[in-house]
Amino acid sequence: MDSTTKSACAEEPVTLIIDPDHTKRYIHKALLIHHSEYFRKALNGPWKEAAEGIVRLEDARLATVDIFIHWLYTGHLPHARDASAWKDLLKDERVSIYTTLMIAYSFADRFLVPELQRTLHNSLVDYFDVYRYASPCLYLTPELANQAFEIMQEDRPVLQLIVDNYCRNSATCCDRGRKLVDYPPAFLARTTRRMWELYEDAKWPQSSGERCYYEHLDDAEISACGKLHMRYDVERGIGIFGREVHGENCTPGAMFASESE
Ligand SMILES: [Zn+2]
Ligand SMILES: [Zn+2]
Repeated sequence: MDSTTKSACAEEPVTLIIDPDHTKRYIHKALLIHHSEYFRKALNGPWKEAAEGIVRLEDARLATVDIFIHWLYTGHLPHARDASAWKDLLKDERVSIYTTLMIAYSFADRFLVPELQRTLHNSLVDYFDVYRYASPCLYLTPELANQAFEIMQEDRPVLQLIVDNYCRNSATCCDRGRKLVDYPPAFLARTTRRMWELYEDAKWPQSSGERCYYEHLDDAEISACGKLHMRYDVERGIGIFGREVHGENCTPGAMFASESE
């Protein structure tokens, strides 16, 4: 228990009411406002919520709120591959761990809980890391890719992990049961880019290195990790690791140089 958790427990709890069944959950106010700007505003302003200590969460799933509460009080989540720990946490919920993590990620985004978002992002990295050498047809459906690219911000490294796994294994996959046009355009664009990067890596192996897809807490953690981390180029919509490789056959004017002579 850290100091925030300790001091939080001395206070009156806030009541969260979760639709559609109006189920109630109680959370210590200091914990909520420490981690979430949404709740900081809702519980500190001149609003009814602040006076009553009650916040209604419309369109939130009870299972997601329970993940949030578990994370608030313990500071962590079960490992993405620990099915029995997730079963204990989610009880009757019958959705996959992947969908659970994705829905929780969008909850953390909506209620402004960045540290939970980072934890969930890294859980998704653990989830997909298992598929490092798996054929895309076994798990990477267009639905999965669409959900990921719809919910996550484009600069999240886990999106690149999905692309990289796909590219590493698609040449040896049967390629059945999927239509490429059903995948999101951003996924296909990044796939194209990654394919020729792999081609260049084969020519210049020194330009590549082991990639890490975690979102680290700070620069100290990044340098302690020692692997390559992604920079996202917003303009071009691509993730870059390490030294960027460029071709040299397209110097302006070179193409028509012989004609103008
Ligand atoms: Zn296959
Ligand atoms: Zn790292």
